Amino acid sequence: MSIPAVVAHGGAGAGPERLANVERAVAIAAAILESGGTAVEAAVEACVVLEDDPVFNAGTGSVFRTDGTVHLDASIQVSDGRMGFVIAMEDTPNPIRVAADLLDEEINGLTGEGARAWADSKGFAKAPVEGRPPFKEATDTVGVIARDRSGSIACATSTGGCSDRPPGRVGDVPLPGCGFWVQGGVGVGATGIGEAITRGMLSFRVAERILDGGGLEESMMWALEECLEDGAEVGMIALGSEGTGHGLANSENMPWSSWIARK
Ligand code: ASP
Repeated sequence: MSIPAVVAHGGAGAGPERLANVERAVAIAAAILESGGTAVEAAVEACVVLEDDPVFNAGTGSVFRTDGTVHLDASIQVSDGRMGFVIAMEDTPNPIRVAADLLDEEINGLTGEGARAWADSKGFAKAPVEGRPPFKEATDTVGVIARDRSGSIACATSTGGCSDRPPGRVGDVPLPGCGFWVQGGVGVGATGIGEAITRGMLSFRVAERILDGGGLEESMMWALEECLEDGAEVGMIALGSEGTGHGLANSENMPWSSWIARK
């Protein structure tokens, strides 16, 4: 038996004023886990809360690409090895639900029109995503990692992509090992400038370091200091097989929150 826990963030650059919004999502995940729900259910439902919250650059509040379109990326991975991700989806307010639908399929990921066609065939909500104009360099993606009583860990992330990116651009969020990685009882998620996160393969490298015996915070600190070649604004969350989850960013701007059940 494991002790259920959750950690979530609202983006590397979102600002501390978004903390209450992140805490709301953590509370939803905590309630699911307390009532015996799975890590996947907790991570997905908390991610949906954040996708539906227009202050975040994910789902409803996603920022426009340079041509005014809204393209959504989302991913989920489970400690049993299952994985699902969607890239550049349009007209899909909750892309994390489509990513989660792929967990039990032979394929891992879908892009663009193919992803939307899959969602149509499975009855996932189709609706225009209003989006919003980019402001400064928007890095307020969302991410949630949950651990359930069985010890299963799931990491869910979702984004509209950094500001000033063209349609079709692929960031870190749907790329395994970059914006997310779950392996051997460790889950890691990243947020911030996706190109830098991808070049540093941040989530995989942090998970490996934790599995080698590094602490959660120490391993994230190492990645932020050693694996980013250009000092880009980046934040991370991590959760292991026991204890509470942690968040760490190279600025003061990442709202993150964690919860652990009482024994
Ligand atoms: N990492 C995301 C991306 O590059 C942005 C973010 O974290 O806010 O698409």
